[in-house]
Amino acid sequence: MQNLKKLVVFILLLNGLASFAQTRVEGLMYLTNQPVAVEFKDGKILSVTKIKELTDKDHPWIIAPGLIDNQVNGFAGVSFGFGGGELTSQGVLKATKELWKNGVTAYLPTLTTNSQELLLQNLRLLATCKNDPDLLGSIVGFHLEGPYISPVDGYRGAHPLKYVRKPDWNEFTALYEASQRSILTVTIAPEVDGAMDFISRSTAMGIIVAIGHHNANKACIDSAVTRGAGISTHLGNGCANMINRHDNPLWPQLANNQLMASIICDGFHLRDEEIAVFYKVKGPDKTIITSDVTSFATLPPGNYKNSEGETIELTAEGMLRYPAQNVLYGSASPISRGVGQIVRVTGCSIADAIGMASTNPAKLYGLTDRGSLEPGKRADLILFEMKNSALLIKKTYVNGQLVYTEK
Ligand SMILES: [Zn+2]
Repeated sequence: MQNLKKLVVFILLLNGLASFAQTRVEGLMYLTNQPVAVEFKDGKILSVTKIKELTDKDHPWIIAPGLIDNQVNGFAGVSFGFGGGELTSQGVLKATKELWKNGVTAYLPTLTTNSQELLLQNLRLLATCKNDPDLLGSIVGFHLEGPYISPVDGYRGAHPLKYVRKPDWNEFTALYEASQRSILTVTIAPEVDGAMDFISRSTAMGIIVAIGHHNANKACIDSAVTRGAGISTHLGNGCANMINRHDNPLWPQLANNQLMASIICDGFHLRDEEIAVFYKVKGPDKTIITSDVTSFATLPPGNYKNSEGETIELTAEGMLRYPAQNVLYGSASPISRGVGQIVRVTGCSIADAIGMASTNPAKLYGLTDRGSLEPGKRADLILFEMKNSALLIKKTYVNGQLVYTEK
């Protein structure tokens, strides 16, 4: 018994020392492909120094800031849209730990079109989780995608029609308060009644307004941007299959220089040539890679039921389908897959790809302590290898703590 007590004291001491210790990690800097040593302490980067060569020459891994995903509906069997109190803090922790394994060090849990009751309940729970020290600050705020979107089939995507509604400021304010004022972005359709006023009011509060699941014309899109809308949500998706070749919502979103675009690069949501064109038009500074990943990620292929009891099919290739409406049902791939895919499709540099999956979202949402490897920033970093257009995560550090090592 005495020995056990001594052991416990020893372990506690070691833990205490570890939290004060300085950590040094080497890798090939993602911006230059040159070897660097990154030193950090108490969760903050102290220095990034060029070195002559890596100590461990057998593992020439790239070192980069952790990925930041602005659209995570759930992960690893946990949906942020679970009803009936099924969403728990343990579930959120599980999803977060699984995201760490995929290089995601910060994310916006995303709630899609649903009843006000469910949105309130889940935002309250998620806001509590955001402050949970075990999550190491990985939840940076929330994305509300809907319910103020187009009710029209195709543009609505897989969002349930019965919960789609017109913008209602009182209703939104209640959601905002339930989130502890942590809704960072809202995706809405600019053409619905009341949308313009909603865009102005939410922009004035510092909320990033995104346009998505809409069928707005050029005048409406430009007017939304003038009022403060800053980004298109998953451009090229949330759009009907049959559109007019001249008058459709895609061209004006591409043509508007002030509008950024988030794109899903999972290999299913967009054809390679769409990604190539969107990237050519928007460029590396105005493109954000997003995942739109759902609870089905990491699960084996098969047929599943969503919370409404409808069948969702996850194919062997990793495509997530909603057969009843013949639309995709979000994705089953984390954002790390998108990073590898965009390099393959566009030939862009790894530096640009990481920029679109970390630096750009950090800037857009005002996360000034993230999104780059510089002294003073949070020690959120990843070590990875690129193999056959795939990002193989080797290690993930969140707030200076090693949270994942590849086995
Ligand atoms: Zn969507």
